[in-house]
Formats: sequence, structure tokens, C-alpha cells
Amino acid sequence: MATTQILPKGVSAREFVRALAEFGRIVGEDYVIRSDEQLLPYRKAMLPEQPEPLICSAVVIPANVEEIQGILKICNRHRIPIWPISTGRNFGYGSATPATPGQVVLELRRLNRILDVDAELGTALVEPGVTYQQLQDHLKERNIPLWLDFPAPGPLVGPVGNTLERGGGQTPYGDHFGHCCGMEVVLADGAILRTGLGGVENSNSWQCYRYGYGPYLDGIFTQSNFGIVTKLGLWLMPAPPAHRTFLVQYPEDADLAKAVDVIRPLRLDRTIGNFGVLFNAALALTSFVRKADLHDGPGAVPDARIFAAARERGITPWMYSFSLYGRPEIVEVNSRVVTAAFEQSGAVVIPDIHDPMQVNELSLETFRLLNWTEGGGLAWFAPVCPNRGADMRNQHHLAKSIMSDHGLDFMTGATCIGREIENVMPLVFNPASAEESQRADACMRRLIREFTAAGYGIYRTGTNYMDLVASLHGATNLEVNRRLKRALDPNGILAPGKSGIQI
Ligand SMILES: Cc1cc2nc3c(=O)[nH]c(=O)nc-3n(C[C@H](O)[C@H](O)[C@H](O)COP(=O)(O)OP(=O)(O)OC[C@H]3O[C@@H](n4cnc5c(N)ncnc54)[C@H](O)[C@@H]3O)c2cc1C
Repeated sequence: MATTQILPKGVSAREFVRALAEFGRIVGEDYVIRSDEQLLPYRKAMLPEQPEPLICSAVVIPANVEEIQGILKICNRHRIPIWPISTGRNFGYGSATPATPGQVVLELRRLNRILDVDAELGTALVEPGVTYQQLQDHLKERNIPLWLDFPAPGPLVGPVGNTLERGGGQTPYGDHFGHCCGMEVVLADGAILRTGLGGVENSNSWQCYRYGYGPYLDGIFTQSNFGIVTKLGLWLMPAPPAHRTFLVQYPEDADLAKAVDVIRPLRLDRTIGNFGVLFNAALALTSFVRKADLHDGPGAVPDARIFAAARERGITPWMYSFSLYGRPEIVEVNSRVVTAAFEQSGAVVIPDIHDPMQVNELSLETFRLLNWTEGGGLAWFAPVCPNRGADMRNQHHLAKSIMSDHGLDFMTGATCIGREIENVMPLVFNPASAEESQRADACMRRLIREFTAAGYGIYRTGTNYMDLVASLHGATNLEVNRRLKRALDPNGILAPGKSGIQI
């Protein structure tokens, strides 16, 4: 099997070979991956290609915390940068690829134990390799009436990687970081930190109380490179006695602001139990057609074609899907409240639709998005929007005009969280075309710059864009992150460049 020599920055070929041999002595030769062929799945990013590809030099796959500590010793000695992944499927944000070329990926899939589920308290403690599917099977096999909340690629991914990215799902527990409780973190020098009440010997409340005593540290281990999380506590939702999912359809493209202003109060007073998704016709159409079915010219599909194709399938320009959960009588009353509110604003309300993510059903339905163009290139642009109609309209116009300038189709699937909306927009392109890939890259960079110039920050970004986004979110913020980095990882071995944080 061919092995191309890609090296971590500043490490000689000789030293790298020595370090890999040392990794092999800790994890076993079979768990150090070096050949181009075996590295291929770890090098596919979906993102637009960069002048210097962000690909790893090798992968090392430990089985437990002790092996991770041993790997860190070697990395510190040889200054080998290491990029931890849990299930490694950060699709549209870089997948398993590092933020700078040549890092060694530290894959944690062999740490895959469900360490605890407390059916009474609705808590779990899991390792990074545990998938949502595995956890759901575990609950079902034991008839434990707890629901999971997962992102759209739920069957393939797991709670640790998703939570550390501050990812989200579609039940009332959709804010994953907001529903995690207690971490075990291996620091760069091998020290093991248990956050929250995990520091208490024989703690019986590690998964019940999030804040512990003193500073609340969990946040600094998300979207960061300050440690390797090896255990994570989760809160799981008691299966609700009743639930009902609705689809709200707004007939005009100009109805977006109106829709948001109806949704906001219903979210803030928690009448609507989950975030719901506010999505446009183009995104809905990806479930039924490919771009080439609608348009064979250059550039974005014209609005008129999108709306005509949508009409044929009963799709309207803006739609909002959400659910009510709770006791049957409460769901019934709230059904009347929400239906009246949306209908008064001119929408059509369709009750009792089925949306798997909102009701604990794992599915890969949303992957149809990737069929829109050839090749399945995907980069998420994910700005935060204040939950106000005027702001959503503003973001819509800004994003659509920038995307259209770059010949890309405007799509959004926005989660209406509370006071904010995560306005998640996929840039879908054909990565096999260098020209299209460059257009998508230029588009993303312009979106990031123009949105931040207009005062809108970014919720999460892909490995290609971490430096850019960090540079626009406050010099002092970046500097404080650097100081933390220097204190916790003085050799800068953990995931350099993650979220723009360098030593
Ligand atoms: C069609 C489609 C729909 C999607 N829908 C959603 C959605 O609804 N919600 C959503 O949130 N995402 C969504 N995604 C994006 C993504 O696929 C998921 O967020 C996925 O859960 C992230 O991958 P992962 O869980 O395998 O995390 P990983 O790839 O394992 O981890 C992500 C990153 O976190 C860090 N990290 C991971 N593990 C550790 C660790 N143990 N210690 C320290 N750092 C670590 C690393 O920087 C890593 O690169 C979607 C993607 C696609 C293609």
C-alpha cells in the first residue's frame, strides 16, 4: 500500500517515523494508520479544497485513557500535533480533517462504552465512540422510557463529538451542550480532569449537577483544543405521554419576517416545545429533485423555477415544522393556541405530520440534500440571528444575494432556538469541479465577512474557515484563548488551529 509522506509541521521524516513506531508500541501496529488507501476516509472533507489541503499525516486509534496518556507523552516529546475525533463525521464542517495540514488524527471510536444510564434521573455517561444508535438500542433493549436528541446524521454519529461542537437536534433537549452534565478530560500533559462534581471522590451527583464548585469549566472544552474529552454525562428526556408535530406553510416569499414574529413569543413562553425548523422551498425540494432537473444553465436556479417546482409538490416558500410535547390535555390546548396564532398571520397549519428527528426516530432522510449537485460537496454557513423578523429578513436578503453572485442556490434550515435563531445554510457544490469549489470557497469567505460586518456572529464553522471566523470575533477573545492554550498545552500539541486557537 502506497504511503505519501505528509508530515506534521516542523517534524522531520525521521522523527515522525520514530513517533509512529512508538504509537504502535502503545496501541498495537494495527491501530496506527499510515497508508494512503486507509487514510482516504479520514481525508475526505466535503468542504471546498484549499491551496494546501487540510489532511492528516496518520491516524492513531487508542483503546482507553491510559493509551491516550501514553500517546500524549510521545506527542509532547516529538512535538506531534494531534487532532481528536469521536465518531469523526463532522460533515459539512470538515468531517475528520484537521485545521492545519499534517496533524495526526486521534480517533476515539474504540472508547465506546455506555458506562451508566440512570433511568430514574434520566442521565447517562458515555465514551466518545458511542453512537446515538448504540445508545438508543441500549435504552430500547432495556425498556427504559427515555428519548434521545440527535442531529440529522444521528445513526452515524455520537453525542460526544456533536456536543463538543455545540451541535443540536430537534426535541426539547435539542441544545446538546445545554443538556450535558460532567466531563472527563485528559489534558495535554496527561492529567485527568473531571468537571462539575466529578472531582468529589465517589461522587454520586456527577451527572445531576452541572456547575460543580468554583468556575464552571465545561464550556472551555467545546469548540476548542484545550483537552481530550473521554467521558461525557448526558441528560435524557423522559418519553412524553403525548406529542404532536405540525407543519406551518406560508404562501409568500415575503412572509418570512411575519413567520418569525409569530414563532418568537411561542418559543419564549415555551408553548412550542422544541426549536422546530424554519426552512425554505429550495431546501424542501432537495428531497424530491436534483438541481439538474430544474435548471441546466449556469448559476443558481431562478426563483420562478424553484417556486413552480415547489407548488407542484405542495411546498410553499417558507415552512416551519415543530412539535408539542407533554400530557395529552396540555398538547390539546396548545394545539389550539398555536394553530390560531399561525392562522391569524395568514399561514396554513397542517397537524400530525411526521418528522423523525422530533420524535426520537433515527433516520438519514436529510442526506438527500447531498444529491442536489454531483459529488456531494457541502459547507455549512451558520450565522446566529436574533429571533426577530426584521433580522431574519435582513439575513435572508444578504445571504441570497451573495450566494447568487457566486452561482449557488440559497437554502436554509433555521432552528428557532429562543432569543436566537441558528440560521444554518448549506452551500452545496460539486467538489470535482475546481471552478465550482473555488466559487463555494469565495462565497463562504464573503458570507462570513459581510455577516460579521453587519453585526451577525457565527455559531460554528468548518476547518477551512476557523482562522477567519476567529479573527472577526474579537482580538481580546482570541488572546484570552491563546493564554489558556499556553497554560494548558504549552507545546501546542492538541489540535492546533481548532476554532482559530494557536499557541
Ligand atoms: C445532511 C446533514 C445534516 C446535518 N444535520 C446536523 C444537525 O441537525 N445538527 C448538528 O449539530 N449537525 C448536523 N450535521 C453536521 C455533523 O454531521 C454533525 O454535527 C455530527 O454530529 C458531527 O460529527 P461527529 O458527531 O462525528 O463529531 P466528530 O467529528 O467526532 O467531532 C467534531 C469535532 O469535535 C472535536 N472533538 C470531537 N471529539 C472530541 C474529543 N473527544 N475531545 C476533544 N475534541 C473532540 C474535534 O475538533 C472534532 O473535529 C449535519 C450534516 C449533514 C451532512
